[in-house]
Amino acid sequence: MNTGKPIAIIGAGIAGLTAANFLRQNNVPFVLFEAGNKIAGLATSFKDADGFSHDFGAHFVTNRLADAIGVGSECQLVKHYGEAVWLKGKSYNYPFGLIQIPRMSLNFIKTKIKLFNNKQAPNSAAEWFNMQFGSSIANEVALPLIEAWSGAPAEKLSPAVGESLPGSILKTLYLKISSVLTGRAVSCGYNREMPEKPSVWHVYPNGGIATLCSKLAEGLEDSIRLESPVEEIMVENEKVIAILVKGEILEVAAVISTAPANILAKMVKGTTVLQGIQRFRFRPMLFVNLRLEGRKLLPDTVLWFPENKFPFFRITEVTRSMPWLAPEGKSIITVDIGCQKDDEYWAMDEKTLTQLCFDHLESVIPGVKNKFLGSTVLRTTISYPVFLNEYEKERKDFEQSTNVENLLSIGRNGEFSHRFMEDVYWRTRKKVGELIEKLAHES
Ligand SMILES: Cc1cc2nc3c(=O)[nH]c(=O)nc-3n(C[C@H](O)[C@H](O)[C@H](O)COP(=O)(O)OP(=O)(O)OC[C@H]3O[C@@H](n4cnc5c(N)ncnc54)[C@H](O)[C@@H]3O)c2cc1C
Repeated sequence: MNTGKPIAIIGAGIAGLTAANFLRQNNVPFVLFEAGNKIAGLATSFKDADGFSHDFGAHFVTNRLADAIGVGSECQLVKHYGEAVWLKGKSYNYPFGLIQIPRMSLNFIKTKIKLFNNKQAPNSAAEWFNMQFGSSIANEVALPLIEAWSGAPAEKLSPAVGESLPGSILKTLYLKISSVLTGRAVSCGYNREMPEKPSVWHVYPNGGIATLCSKLAEGLEDSIRLESPVEEIMVENEKVIAILVKGEILEVAAVISTAPANILAKMVKGTTVLQGIQRFRFRPMLFVNLRLEGRKLLPDTVLWFPENKFPFFRITEVTRSMPWLAPEGKSIITVDIGCQKDDEYWAMDEKTLTQLCFDHLESVIPGVKNKFLGSTVLRTTISYPVFLNEYEKERKDFEQSTNVENLLSIGRNGEFSHRFMEDVYWRTRKKVGELIEKLAHES
């Protein structure tokens, strides 16, 4: 490809850096613009003076991704990962522990028999979960969690919320057994692009999750511009021609954007094809990282809370899976609180949020307040894409293409899809490869 114009990449998270790395491997000129003052985006890692480390939310990545990026030898093995559900003051292993509850298992079996003869397509996430798991699991567990996660009623959410959940029961069972037999946390539910199998397990880079991004950025420093938010993407005849950064126009061969889809839609000038995308919504979320005395404070690594008396829907004892993230005998628990921007939770200061967590965690971790060593709060307005039925048609269309020539929208929020990092990596390489071929063909 030799148009004399570079490709502009927007965003230096794992998607933008994967794109940059791939373009460099293929000798394609690019400039990567990052709005913030450092790389990594949602994959940022933090370390404090007391020896506690944490990431933006709990992050689990695979050995396959670490090897592909070239940091496999700098990672520690995660030996155990498990999830549980907290219901009526008791913890149930997820997913198989729920079978111990007779009304759930009976209702589940009846539903599966009925589903065999029912070929009707569901119209909402509520219908999808009822049809797949029965009303008991749907109404007591799955739907309250989906609603807390998305901030929208399940009747207003698209069935795609459920359809995107990976893995069958048999496959989950096979991977869980492999995990026990091998003593490695075999990845389950983290990949859709590449097969999940016993040889793919969780690891953690010694320098934190951000190490994946720093490795990808190695040798690309000359083409990365920090503190350079892209303001406009100029389109003529439905084709990208230039971008506007810091008041300057740069002619480009193509744009690869990792900005949230709704933000991208606002940046694009000269066409109306992305107008509908401006309505896409992301769920804002708060993460309260509690530093606590003691270990194994929760029944398992992740504990889900479907009952809406809890202000949070999920808590994660990251140190149960990755003990090295805290000093000996101490833990980090990340509390996920779904909220709306500027609602009462969003407006709470750190002290009030910590107290709120204590008030609701006492039944789960008796004496939690006396174990307290400190806390930090992280906030993001773009934690999860919300699949509302009202824009489902536009979402499906956008999934195929931006409909603007030479404009790619990649990455988790760029694709408006709840993706883990390994999927982001493989999808980005595939899409950027197709773009390179297209541009080479044109020149
Ligand atoms: C709570 C939580 C837990 C998660 N847990 C896991 C996990 O366990 N395992 C896993 O694999 N994944 C996990 N993920 C997903 C993972 O974090 C993301 O898939 C990945 O980090 C997304 O990378 P990205 O490059 O697509 O986007 P981002 O990291 O968001 O990067 C986008 C970048 O674009 C920049 N940008 C935006 N607009 C502009 C502009 N106009 N100009 C210039 N720059 C701009 C932003 O500043 C940002 O740096 C989790 C995510 C969350 C929120």
